[in-house]
Amino acid sequence: MLVLPQKLMTALNKLAHFDEDAFRAVHQSDTQVVSVRLNRAKIQIEEEIGATAPHGLSFPLADRIPWTSNGFYLPERPSFTLDPLFHAGVYYVQEASGMFVEHALRNTVDLSSPLKVLDLCAAPGGKSTLIQSLISKESLLLSNEVIKTRVPVLHQNMSKWGLMNGMISNNDPKDFRRIPGYFDVLMIDAPCSGSGLFRKDPAAIREWTEEGVRLCSQRQQRILADAWDCLKENGVLIYSTCSYSTEENEDILDCLLNQFACESLRLPLDASWNIIETRSEKANGYGYRFYPDKINGEGFFLAVVQKKSEVNGIQKVKEKREMPNKQEETAVRKFIPDEDNQFIRMSEWIHVMPAGLLADFLTLKNYLYMKKAGVMAGRMGSGEWIPDHELALSTGLNPEIPELELSGSDALKYLRREVLTADVQKKGWIPVSFRHQKLGWVKILPNRLNNYFPKSWRILK
Ligand code: SAM
Repeated sequence: MLVLPQKLMTALNKLAHFDEDAFRAVHQSDTQVVSVRLNRAKIQIEEEIGATAPHGLSFPLADRIPWTSNGFYLPERPSFTLDPLFHAGVYYVQEASGMFVEHALRNTVDLSSPLKVLDLCAAPGGKSTLIQSLISKESLLLSNEVIKTRVPVLHQNMSKWGLMNGMISNNDPKDFRRIPGYFDVLMIDAPCSGSGLFRKDPAAIREWTEEGVRLCSQRQQRILADAWDCLKENGVLIYSTCSYSTEENEDILDCLLNQFACESLRLPLDASWNIIETRSEKANGYGYRFYPDKINGEGFFLAVVQKKSEVNGIQKVKEKREMPNKQEETAVRKFIPDEDNQFIRMSEWIHVMPAGLLADFLTLKNYLYMKKAGVMAGRMGSGEWIPDHELALSTGLNPEIPELELSGSDALKYLRREVLTADVQKKGWIPVSFRHQKLGWVKILPNRLNNYFPKSWRILK
């Protein structure tokens, strides 16, 4: 039996909408809500709900998640690790409430215009992959993660997602003071006390303390104050947590509305969703709360504000990029034929990104510690192009390039980095796929097939 922290329950009971009995009951039930978000750049599905996976996925989908376009509940939890399509970036396993970020964006931002978006607390990449699927190809998404050891998982998830217009940085929020007025949208999915995940992760209950909530609240205020400058005038900040505590939610909204020139934005809600609209105590700002006894998902809070003060932006750097040489350019163009994409060399590696984002990258790298820009295409080896793993997963990869389609068991062997055999005439580098979704590269030699799935990504099960 889960014993919920009494101090949290006492605090929540002060909120008029809170239903303690239902909240306790849902935490005692065995219900686990499983949901995924499909990557429409990789999979189009005609018949979605109820079908026993005739749509190319490895599991059936149950209902749609109502506040998002590509999110679905699953009837039960499959083994994602053993599904090759998970590794191909065909879907992202994401908690349903967090996908409300889509509804917030659609109702406060013109998603058809070219935007610059910063996801400040991005690892492991749930909000980032969601946002990247919503913004236009010309828009930039910079996903930042301050904790160095969490950057690789973010990198992996963004690479699997396969879109070209993403970059990753590894900076402290205060570093973003160097680029005032740069972003149209600032997503801050803040580190928090995590009470919203108690049902999913009961171990978190033991770690919860009032003091922890207070420290989280202070840290959230610091993060917001540090990052505020990098938002443009009329730019939109989406703030979210997976905590139920007012100190981390409405009180933070009050701090923002009192400290900075900004306006709280109200979101339209469908009554059937059962999301609770709240008002902050001092400045009356709008917040949106998700409770597991009211909605099919975990605890979550979100609020949106729009900046109302002028900001003097920075000048974009007129720096020259280091270009690939002719031989490299010819080699990469075979893999990425779309002329809207441009190449840039960083040491021996060639990266590809939408042409319009080159100036952003050259500017940002003067201020931030950039860990990824667009798609890493690979490098010239001795007389041959050595493609990077990211290139195989990229949606920009030339579809004409022949692939080696693997069976389910061979796909798992590949993902475990085991030895594969195949009777293939073609020699050299070739992408392998499962249900025509690329998994990575192999190199076909006269007497064997070398498996180039990244060692650090291999499945160990
Ligand atoms: N947005 C992510 C997603 O949807 O997958 C989840 C983000 S998680 C709630 C919060 C993130 O903030 C973590 O990745 C954590 O490493 C990072 N973080 C921790 N301390 C931070 C700080 N002082 N400033 C900025 N980010 C911090």
